[in-house]
Amino acid sequence: MIPEIEKASTATIKAYQEAELKKLLQYLNTHSSYYKRLFKSENINLNSINTLEDLVQIPTTTKEDLQRYNDDFICVPRHDIIDYVTTSGTLGEPVTFALTDNDLKRLAHNEAISFACAGVKKADVIQLMTTIDRRFMAGLAYFLGARELGAGIIRVGNGIPELQWDSIKKFKPTYIIAVPSFLLKLIEYAEQHNIDLNNSGVKGAICIGESLREQDFSLNILSKKIKDKWDIDLFSTYASTEMNTAFTECEAQQGGHHHPELIIIEILDENNAPVAAGEPGELTISTLGVEGMPLLRFKTGDIVTAHTEACSCGRNTTRLGPVIGRKKQMIKYKGTTLYPPAMHNILNDFNAIDSYVIEISHNNIGTDEILLKIATNNATEEFLQKIKDHFRAKLRVLPKIEFCDKKELQKLQFPKMSRKPVLVIDRRE
Ligand SMILES: [Zn+2]
Repeated sequence: MIPEIEKASTATIKAYQEAELKKLLQYLNTHSSYYKRLFKSENINLNSINTLEDLVQIPTTTKEDLQRYNDDFICVPRHDIIDYVTTSGTLGEPVTFALTDNDLKRLAHNEAISFACAGVKKADVIQLMTTIDRRFMAGLAYFLGARELGAGIIRVGNGIPELQWDSIKKFKPTYIIAVPSFLLKLIEYAEQHNIDLNNSGVKGAICIGESLREQDFSLNILSKKIKDKWDIDLFSTYASTEMNTAFTECEAQQGGHHHPELIIIEILDENNAPVAAGEPGELTISTLGVEGMPLLRFKTGDIVTAHTEACSCGRNTTRLGPVIGRKKQMIKYKGTTLYPPAMHNILNDFNAIDSYVIEISHNNIGTDEILLKIATNNATEEFLQKIKDHFRAKLRVLPKIEFCDKKELQKLQFPKMSRKPVLVIDRRE
């Protein structure tokens, strides 16, 4: 199930994308208040944008733009919106994405061809170990993709290793979709309960949220730990709500494949100029075929390297290596992306919190950890639970939280030479 365009020559793919780009520009100029305004204020003559190289004439779109002008990005009337998705915005408030019926069809197609990359077939059964609700896009995309492919899907949702194993025993999935660090929890549970991992029937895992590989595509610490105990194929999938598109590894496991019929990609340097071939840069995307909230030259904040050599799987599309880093302070936590201001907002909701520090670090498996150190006069289990509930409700993930002494916290907040209190301590690299 490889779309013809993905096997075509580089020149054919480029010409195809350029034709699609023209359609996107026309669509935005007709339906998007934000881009209409941008084209006008920047004096952009759409007739002069004909090639992918011409894209640099158009200013990029940032996450801040999405937040500030959220409604202006939505291109359809309210009655055409079927599904509402939100992402945690950089400025604290969530950003809303509106999906139309066609957008959901597009999302299904996107995920079906992504599953096909990872070798999933109609006869397979997939166990979904990520959230399908809470206004997330990913779980929904997986469900729709499995439907499109004709594969079976078991919606267990995230967490609860016991339930996951019960379900694996009962329904015999051949693939699972999970955050890779959760696979370690499944392994731990299996070991404690005499479950024979390597006779579970699971042959592969499609992993979201955390990288599996080093830049040379060798396994990283996390995936080595998994593979040591559980001999299954690990496929990385990289996606985001803004992209409406996934980049999933094929059997060669040499980066996530670009689907040229769904998205245009650019890799940009600090000055928004394209990097030299093979150099890392910020992934910047333009969506193709999206009706509800299409984006043009959107800067994802993710630093990646593009690989353009032909792939042994037969696809002739660019592959993206593991995300190298994020723009400042971006935290990838338990499969979601968040920023300190969103946590500031939540913590600031509690008058009983005297002060706090957010510590971001790498744990021993190379993924991010968040530790909230909180000083309060109400250091009770009850209050801690209240904070946790608020985090789950607002942010949908829960960082580690500990109460700590006010004086100790002050030392952290006011290191020498600092006049402003430090609220975020980034201990990563
Ligand atoms: Zn491939």
